[in-house]
Amino acid sequence: MLSDAHIHTDFCDGLNTAEEMVKAALERGLCALGFSGHSYTAFDEDCCMSRAATGAYRQEIARLKAKYHRQIALFCGIEQDFFSCEPTEGYAYIIGSVHYLADTENKKYYTIDYTGSQLCQCIAELCGGSPEAFVQKYFAQVAQMAQSLRPDIIGHFDLLRKLNAADRFFAENSPAYRQAAQAALRVCAQAGCLLELNTGGAYRGYRQDFYPAERELAYWRSLGGEVIITSDAHEAAALCYGFDEARQLLKEVGFERQAVLSARGFTYQGL
Ligand SMILES: [Zn+2]
Ligand SMILES: [Zn+2]
Repeated sequence: MLSDAHIHTDFCDGLNTAEEMVKAALERGLCALGFSGHSYTAFDEDCCMSRAATGAYRQEIARLKAKYHRQIALFCGIEQDFFSCEPTEGYAYIIGSVHYLADTENKKYYTIDYTGSQLCQCIAELCGGSPEAFVQKYFAQVAQMAQSLRPDIIGHFDLLRKLNAADRFFAENSPAYRQAAQAALRVCAQAGCLLELNTGGAYRGYRQDFYPAERELAYWRSLGGEVIITSDAHEAAALCYGFDEARQLLKEVGFERQAVLSARGFTYQGL
């Protein structure tokens, strides 16, 4: 039973139409596909769906659900950003994600996964030049998001690593990093969320590993947490990218099962 619950279309920053994604899923033999467009976020005009596009997105997924219901189970989810104020009612499920840190008083938002220069600016202006403070702020915000939004799935738990290959901005192996990450994982576990093992950063060549890093996965396992493998595909070719490798990693870390999308919604399957 192959499925993918984190994908984007041209309603937000994806390359393909929703129907092209469905056709690609059928070609690959998926039994279920979950759309998760970026929720409208007022200050971001590049990546998220506009309000008008959000309505069109919901309509189009409903149309595709009806058209393809004999071939594949389709779900209309949402990837809700921490700073998005849009309602989350009416979606099949919510992926909760942190893409920005902010100086909310001055309404200044910093994208953490876009360019190195924006990340530098964020560390310099928002975190007093301290990479450790940046790491702490990021994970504290993930924890706050899990608590306030209570999403079904925590999106790319450690997205802050995207531009940090070879520890370019901060040390991923430092005790401070691990403590901050583990504290956030405990909150996510208490909130009852699934953690996604997201292969998107590897597909796009930013990292060779997945989100989250193996040691965080191992800690999540020790907390009794559950996982779901997703591609965060922004184009049809990325659907289910690296899923075999991801499954292998989960087994190595000691997981025995994974959450998957099925016609009945989320269910568990042995690895
Ligand atoms: Zn995201
Ligand atoms: Zn995404």
